[in-house]
Amino acid sequence: MTKVRVKKRNVTIAIGIVVVGIVLVAGIFRWKQELDYQKTYEFKLEEHGYSKEDTAFLIEKLEDKELDHLLELEMDQNIIKFMKETYYLKKNLEKYLAYQKEHPEDELSNIVAIINVGADKDWYSEYTETDLSKDYLLLCNKFHQLPENYTPEDLTKVKNWYAYGDDPQLREEAYSQFISMYNAAKEDGQDLIINSAYRSYQYQDDLYGKYLEWYGQQETDAMAARPGFSEHQTGLSMDIMTYGANASTFEATEEFTWLKNHAHEYGFILRYPKGKEYLTGYEYESWHYRYVGIEAATYIYQHDITFDEYYAYFIEGE
Ligand SMILES: [Zn+2]
Repeated sequence: MTKVRVKKRNVTIAIGIVVVGIVLVAGIFRWKQELDYQKTYEFKLEEHGYSKEDTAFLIEKLEDKELDHLLELEMDQNIIKFMKETYYLKKNLEKYLAYQKEHPEDELSNIVAIINVGADKDWYSEYTETDLSKDYLLLCNKFHQLPENYTPEDLTKVKNWYAYGDDPQLREEAYSQFISMYNAAKEDGQDLIINSAYRSYQYQDDLYGKYLEWYGQQETDAMAARPGFSEHQTGLSMDIMTYGANASTFEATEEFTWLKNHAHEYGFILRYPKGKEYLTGYEYESWHYRYVGIEAATYIYQHDITFDEYYAYFIEGE
């Protein structure tokens, strides 16, 4: 062999080694990349059955801890749909899913509303003392009770001019806002009269007790709130009437139509609307208005939701 040929062979071997080396390194690199990819949520979620689009949505929307939890749940298309609901609350996801399984015919937005306000449970079956620090936005319903000794500090006497009956009282701001509303209605030729305003715990206790004797529990619960659960105890609620009308005829009056269109401008809402009985726990009451402030009242009016739903989402939230 000549020196030249030996040299050539050595060069060939060297090149071969380099090539094999490059291929090996590239292979290892790609293998490592693949392993890293398998650790990503993108990979895990797609493996779990979510589409590329849903996967991107979930990654953007959730924190790592929540994604881990999601991977433990059975893949369910409704998870994404619930998350896209306007009033979706993270803490309720599993409840939505469980409720949906039992009520597959219900609309998802309705399921969200039911779970958020707790209306999947029987009225009064579970309740907590309500958070009084929420002030004008405090919630009093069949799951949120006012303390027995709760009397608003700023109760103000309503002038007889505005009301039927003896010495009705309202909280200061609710009263002054009512006067503004009263005057505006008057200018439009409407007469608003307060039929009932603040009622004490004791009053409701007596009333409820009386009904209980006469009608029994079931009928009484359909007619009157249990003591501590009446919104009238907040001093923020009032029953509004007009001359010559009563509970069954008020809805047909011009005053009712006026209130329907304008009450929110003064911070009032129709508290127990028609068709929302399953959320509020109360029969439709065309005469019962609650002061929540102009911002909340306007939102509730424009989005056609109940105060219970508003509270669950905006006040209580996550
Ligand atoms: Zn009322």
